[in-house]
Amino acid sequence: MAAQAVSVLITGANRGLGLEMVKQMVEGSFTVGKLFACCREPGGPGAEALQTLAKKHPDVIVVVRLDVTDLCSIKHCAQQVGSVVGTGGLNLLINNAGMLVKATLQETSSEDMQNSFSTNVIGPMNVIKEFLPHLRAAAKASGMPGMSSRKAAVVSIASFLGSMENVKQSYVLFSAVSYRVSKAGLNMLTLCAKEELKTDEILFSLIYPGWVRTDMGGEEGEIDAPESVKGMLSVMASLTEEQNGAFLTYQGSTLPW
Ligand code: NDP
Repeated sequence: MAAQAVSVLITGANRGLGLEMVKQMVEGSFTVGKLFACCREPGGPGAEALQTLAKKHPDVIVVVRLDVTDLCSIKHCAQQVGSVVGTGGLNLLINNAGMLVKATLQETSSEDMQNSFSTNVIGPMNVIKEFLPHLRAAAKASGMPGMSSRKAAVVSIASFLGSMENVKQSYVLFSAVSYRVSKAGLNMLTLCAKEELKTDEILFSLIYPGWVRTDMGGEEGEIDAPESVKGMLSVMASLTEEQNGAFLTYQGSTLPW
């Protein structure tokens, strides 16, 4: 039996890993019905590649404005998505947008920490809250038992640098204090959401993309975006309730908290 087409939303979809996810999803690695590709400035030069892709797949890709630090824009985006998906809801929400400040503890300002929290923690929190009605609708409409990304799921793109157990080994190589603290916060947010929304049958998990050659990861990254995204999409497709609250790598192995 052919897989049922799912609806997916990706934040930060105009470049880096987000754009690559859009590419691979429309190329068929996921059976996508509607793909809401969100970015801060859909009409700006930074979204040209996404707009070109959207023109090639006008029935699938819907480019929507979304700044995760702006609650009004999240609410507006949720309304737009709701008007398209209706009672079928949103099956998969990917919290991908993120920011990184490369600074040690002594170099990090209050503003760096506030900005990192706004984008990497408060953003995903508000996105989850505003899209909950659509995720709940998808869980209800699916008729499938258990949990999966084809039913109702939130995947947040996490970092190895948010792992407390790894600080001792990795701090000398890369400090990025506000990033580490905010990504550790994203991990906790995900576990809280998992506990609070268990009965809604919405799956929550964290996926680390590897160290990837994007604007954020830099040229020294270990892998390129296509490899990372191929792995992440395969992990997303295989999620079940056993991975509810899991912290996984793009290759599917479990990371320490
Ligand atoms: P990039 O810097 O290449 O892209 C970041 C994306 O996030 C851009 O689309 C950017 O949009 C968007 N973004 C930033 N702030 C906001 C905001 N306020 N609202 C909406 N969108 C925003 O990074 P990557 O693609 O490498 O990273 C994607 C995710 O993967 C991030 O969460 C990152 O932390 C995580 N990650 C990446 C790793 C790597 O090695 N690359 C390793 C571990 C985790 P705009 O163009 O408007 O700035």
